[in-house]
Amino acid sequence: MPIRCEIVSQDRKVFEGDVDIVTLPGAEGEMGILPRHAPLLTTLKYGIVKVRTNNKEEIFTVAGGVAEIQPEIVTILADAAENVQEIDVNRAETARKRAEEALAQTKQDGGDLDSYLALEAALRRSNLRLDAAKRFRSGRRSGQGEE
Ligand code: ATP
Repeated sequence: MPIRCEIVSQDRKVFEGDVDIVTLPGAEGEMGILPRHAPLLTTLKYGIVKVRTNNKEEIFTVAGGVAEIQPEIVTILADAAENVQEIDVNRAETARKRAEEALAQTKQDGGDLDSYLALEAALRRSNLRLDAAKRFRSGRRSGQGEE
C-alpha cells in the first residue's frame, strides 16, 4: 500500500503521486515517512525531499515550509520547491550573484532589517538549488547557453 504525496509551492503544484516512502527535512532532522505514519505536523528546513516509488527516486529542493503527515497522505506546503531536474543552474547562479551583491550593498548602506532578511533568504534559495543540482544531477547542466 503506497502513501499519497503532494508537494505544493506558493505558485504551483510541483509533485503529486502515490509513493512508497517520502524523506523530508523536518524541524528535528531528516524524516522518512512510510504509509500509515502517525499524524504529524512539522515545519521544514531548507533541504531535500525525496520520493521513491518501486526503485525510482525523484528529488526536490524545498526552501522551508510545513509538512502535514496523515496515515495516507503527506502534504508539503513549501515556500519554494523544484524538482532537481528542472533547476536552471544559470538562473540560480545569477540569483546568487545578485543577492550577494545586494547584501554587500545593504551592509555598507546600513539598510533595513526586512530587506537584509529577504536578501539572505534569496541567497539561501540559490545556494540550495546550486548545491542540489551539483549533488543530485549527473552529467548535463540545464540552462541557457549550456546545451
Ligand atoms: P529568481 O531571482 O531567479 O526568480 P527566486 O529565488 O527569487 O529566484 P522564487 O521566488 O523562489 O525565485 O521562485 C519563483 C518560481 O521560480 C518558483 O516556482 C520556483 O520554483 C522557480 N525557480 C526559482 N529559481 C529557479 C531555478 N533556478 N530553476 C528553476 N526554477 C526556479
